[in-house]
Amino acid sequence: MTGVTGLCHPETVRVAASHQAQARQIAAELAAIAASGMVLPGSITCRRTHCGHPGCACHADPPRLHGPYWQWTRKVAAKTVGRWLSADQNHDYQTWISNDRRLRELLTRLETLGTAAFEQRKPRAATTDTRPDST
Ligand SMILES: [Zn+2]
Repeated sequence: MTGVTGLCHPETVRVAASHQAQARQIAAELAAIAASGMVLPGSITCRRTHCGHPGCACHADPPRLHGPYWQWTRKVAAKTVGRWLSADQNHDYQTWISNDRRLRELLTRLETLGTAAFEQRKPRAATTDTRPDST
């Protein structure tokens, strides 16, 4: 067991060495992605569409749809916002989207580690009762 001084509290929170080793590994990858600055939220999808001209090949049988068109979508204030991308932009920004996903996976792993540590920790003797309304 090694000690980590809490950032908000003067007491020491103890975590297992294996926990710290995993956290350091996650931190290193997080830092590498962050330092690249290549992070973009949302997703990029390929779209093929019909147009409004009845005689166009996109309405033939079989249809020859327009596109491919690449669209980057993301949530802004709980609404989906989309931007059309060129083929080059699609190529370039796929990595940025992947980096964003990886950041979120790494944060989830950190949270899972923290949750496991919390669950494994034995309560101290004579702990203060933190249950609400425990009269
Ligand atoms: Zn068409």
